[in-house]
Amino acid sequence: MTTQATEIYRSHAAIEPFSLHRPKTVVQAVAAMAKSRGRGAYMAGGIDLTDELRAGRKITDLIYLGDVKELAAIGRTSRALVLGGAVTYRQIERDAKIRAALPDLARIWEAVANVRVRAAGSIAGNLIAARSGYDALPALMALDATLHLETGKGARTQPVGKPIPKGALVRRIEIPLTKGLRFLFDRSLKPVVSVALSVSQTAIGIEARAAVGCAHGRAIVKTLNTKGIRSMAELACAAELLASAFADALPEPVSDAIASGAYRRRMAEVQLKRLFASLAEDA
Ligand SMILES: Cc1cc2nc3c(=O)[nH]c(=O)nc-3n(C[C@H](O)[C@H](O)[C@H](O)COP(=O)(O)OP(=O)(O)OC[C@H]3O[C@@H](n4cnc5c(N)ncnc54)[C@H](O)[C@@H]3O)c2cc1C
Repeated sequence: MTTQATEIYRSHAAIEPFSLHRPKTVVQAVAAMAKSRGRGAYMAGGIDLTDELRAGRKITDLIYLGDVKELAAIGRTSRALVLGGAVTYRQIERDAKIRAALPDLARIWEAVANVRVRAAGSIAGNLIAARSGYDALPALMALDATLHLETGKGARTQPVGKPIPKGALVRRIEIPLTKGLRFLFDRSLKPVVSVALSVSQTAIGIEARAAVGCAHGRAIVKTLNTKGIRSMAELACAAELLASAFADALPEPVSDAIASGAYRRRMAEVQLKRLFASLAEDA
């Protein structure tokens, strides 16, 4: 890289002129993206996008989502919480509907990042930026969330863990509200590893899903084998076995300067055991 190139790398000087769009509806936003022929970018809080542009990403059209009211809305149906794609981290922490329907999520989100980031950063922006230490993906995977996307070819629905096609708009995210749903998230060992856990009571017993962040290029989720477990007390008894089976079944975690893959695997097990212990304490 030349000295001149080094100087403009990660600087506003690296950002070339683009057309700014301020759609008021999802239809207008999707139309603007279609017209850009894949060279446009949606922007919500702009935290990651600005970084990408300063690092040299080239776009012809910037489609600002802040005027699309639908994308900032939070709703609740009898079965799900529904978050618009541009809902901010701060909204998740403070919204009355989330606090009533899934207080664990609101409480945990108060500690994510810092208040300036939470005020600007959106849930879909976090998913699309897809950095391995980001928290939205493991949390939403553990909660079994579904994405509603708008692509140039129409609307589509997919599990949150599936890669999002380039240029698709995340319109909304649905979190199913199952009976007795509990959500826990241990982020204390980031950037080594983080573990999110959701547990709910169904007609046939307990269902549990755990997701691990930071340890692989992308978060990994597993449905735990809770067959025959009918109560939280029985779940607490099975905690050691479930945590060790979960850790054993993970693909090889990343080894880097921060931690070895073996350490990450071991800590994922320890964190999951701790989450089960706090569930048992609450019960
Ligand atoms: C100091 C600091 C600490 C942080 N700590 C944490 C942390 O602890 N945990 C954590 O999870 N995150 C953390 N973050 C990351 C932060 O949460 C994300 O940067 C933020 O959520 C991104 O949202 P945004 O709205 O700014 O995205 P933008 O920058 O607007 O967009 C990011 C990407 O998503 C695309 N995009 C945005 N909205 C949509 C949409 N609706 N549909 C389709 N594409 C879209 C954009 O085109 C772009 O490619 C931290 C960031 C900083 C600066």
